[in-house]
Amino acid sequence: MTAIRTESRVAEPVTPTAYRVAAKRRETSDSWTLDLEPAAGDGLPAFLPGQFSMLYVFGSGEVPISVSGLTGGRGKLIHTVRAVGAVTRAICDSEPGDQLGVRGPFGNSWPLAEAEGGDVVVVTGGIGLAPLRPLIERLVADRDRYGAVCLLYGARSPADMLYPSELRTGERPGSRWRPRSIPHPRPGAAGSALSPSSFHRLRSRANGRPRSSAVPKS
Ligand SMILES: Cc1cc2nc3c(=O)[nH]c(=O)nc-3n(C[C@H](O)[C@H](O)[C@H](O)COP(=O)(O)OP(=O)(O)OC[C@H]3O[C@@H](n4cnc5c(N)ncnc54)[C@H](O)[C@@H]3O)c2cc1C
Repeated sequence: MTAIRTESRVAEPVTPTAYRVAAKRRETSDSWTLDLEPAAGDGLPAFLPGQFSMLYVFGSGEVPISVSGLTGGRGKLIHTVRAVGAVTRAICDSEPGDQLGVRGPFGNSWPLAEAEGGDVVVVTGGIGLAPLRPLIERLVADRDRYGAVCLLYGARSPADMLYPSELRTGERPGSRWRPRSIPHPRPGAAGSALSPSSFHRLRSRANGRPRSSAVPKS
């Protein structure tokens, strides 16, 4: 049986730290967001936007999952998981009060400091919005540090878009945040849903017109 550390002061890369599911929200038909808190002690060091943890489900296994929200420091974690296989299904089946093992933080963070003073275009699709959500939260929090900020987010259907209530929140009077769904490409169609030329078209539209999908400057 694997030992789960319930107290941690120093991050140890090979030993999981026990976290409790504090809350669970359904995002789409197959994706859930879990708020995790340390089962005991301080938990792991703060994760930066773009970093990921190794989430371990007792009896199922361990998979890499990115942080999908800012928690304001050490301890708590937010993860959005799409159930595609054995371990991700087990994570999505966990309920408040259940325990998971967590290792991390792993990986690099988004180069936010290098982007300061410039325009930022965030392009993603489906579950790919999850690792970018902390980045977007940081861009919104520090909005004055950046030029135009644009999110291009594709999903198979509006029902497959993550964080629908947050995207809807942007649709307020005076806001320049206008989510649009891009139709799913025809089955068997060649090429990507967002070709380089259509990306550049959308990017210049986003920079030039107020009706683009842009994070509002408050
Ligand atoms: C750095 C990093 C960050 C990530 N962040 C996230 C995140 O934030 N959220 C998230 O949801 N995912 C994330 N992922 C992806 C996630 O780690 C994988 O979806 C996960 O590892 C899948 O593990 P699983 O055991 O659930 O699925 P697996 O069992 O490994 O299955 C994976 C795929 O194989 C298919 N498959 C499984 N068994 C079979 C079979 N017998 N025959 C044919 N096909 C099969 C499944 O349908 C699925 O498509 C991230 C991955 C990386 C590398």
